[in-house]
Amino acid sequence: MTITVRFAPSPTGRIHIGNARTAILNWLFARKAQGRFILRFDDTDLERSTKEFADGITTDLNWLGLTPDEVYRQSERFALYDAAAEKLKSDGRLYACYESAEELDYKRKRQLARHQPPIYDRTGLNLSDEDRAKLEAEGGKPHWRFKLDQRDIHWDDLVRGEVHIDTSSLSDPVLIREDGSYLYTLPSVVDDIDMGLTHVIRGEDHTTNAAVQVEIFEALGAKPPAFAHHSLLVGADGKGLSKRLGSLSVAAMREDGLEAMAVVSHGALIGTSEAIEPHTRMDTLLEAFDLSKLSRAPGRFDMIELENLNARIVHQLSYSDVRERLADMGADGGEDFWQAVHSNLSKVRDAAEWHGIVCGHVTGEIADEDREFISQAAGLLPEEPWDDTSWKTWTDAVKQATGRKGKGLFMPLRLALTGKPHGPELAVLLPLIGRDRTLARL
Ligand code: GLU
Repeated sequence: MTITVRFAPSPTGRIHIGNARTAILNWLFARKAQGRFILRFDDTDLERSTKEFADGITTDLNWLGLTPDEVYRQSERFALYDAAAEKLKSDGRLYACYESAEELDYKRKRQLARHQPPIYDRTGLNLSDEDRAKLEAEGGKPHWRFKLDQRDIHWDDLVRGEVHIDTSSLSDPVLIREDGSYLYTLPSVVDDIDMGLTHVIRGEDHTTNAAVQVEIFEALGAKPPAFAHHSLLVGADGKGLSKRLGSLSVAAMREDGLEAMAVVSHGALIGTSEAIEPHTRMDTLLEAFDLSKLSRAPGRFDMIELENLNARIVHQLSYSDVRERLADMGADGGEDFWQAVHSNLSKVRDAAEWHGIVCGHVTGEIADEDREFISQAAGLLPEEPWDDTSWKTWTDAVKQATGRKGKGLFMPLRLALTGKPHGPELAVLLPLIGRDRTLARL
């Protein structure tokens, strides 16, 4: 049996770190088991789903390195859902209801006022053929509810452990709306069966759905897959992420210059018993990944942590990892340049600034009280060729001649050469800047 999982976004928006995490967990699970990772667009809501969002999600997943083995769109699979609905109708599991939204709302309020649980009273189930004919003659259009078995549904959830849900505590769910459109519940099960899903890994907001879906799997003659309902992410303030999607979208993270592997490492390890370590390659992450290490407590997402992780990843990247990107930014200063600057960067794109500082025009800062010192230092610059000992040779000479030492010696030189108080070691920068530019800046 091939382990088969899916990531099933609704293309009604772009994915954010929370959805990306679900995709990452599914992808890693499939890869670890040499299984299949399916991307399924849950686009039965034809009004809100768009091709642009689906394309955007594909771009996001490709950037993250989560390439799917197969891609499906529910909007192309209505015939399968219709066949399943027909079977459920003829088996008496899908029944027509005619209440308007207002009537249902009124019933709910009345139940609540009587301290009864607001569970659908199954009026539709008890309609005779004549009642239905009459309602339809009056222009009534049915919506369709699934008749729950009203029993204890349980499964051994790979994250949550043993889960029990008594479906008598639930209303029979509407599977088909009055206009004939499908809600997510049935198409998802039909596809999970048709695509041979062995595991459904998704957010814990779907735990109750799972109980309903187990009944639907069985009503369609199929064995339910294994379930893993992971906790949802909260922000550093402990609140849910859903309201702040903009900056947390995968697209925004890419535009901000974060490394895909930082997002993937973070998404895979957040909310687990594993330390969030920077992984620059999927194979090491695969070794660290284990679904059973996911905690039931909400994972805490903090952009600052992600940025720190990003910096740690950048510090591990080799010149060949980034050469093309440096070239695209016009900042390919060769291997020595990358070695000199990379441990000072938070993002690869910051290399462009240092490339400008090494090769371009720099207006160094020289304070009035340092002018004399700087011109003395200029006079002591050694001749080229330079290597990583030249800085020491030079500053030793400057120290002797001027009596300056420590910060008073180094900081004015750094400011004059780079225009910045911090940065990579000058011993490695100096040979890259070269004597002509150094002299000009001094
Ligand atoms: N389209 C559903 C969602 O985005 C999929 C849920 C599931 O994985 O079953 O919530």
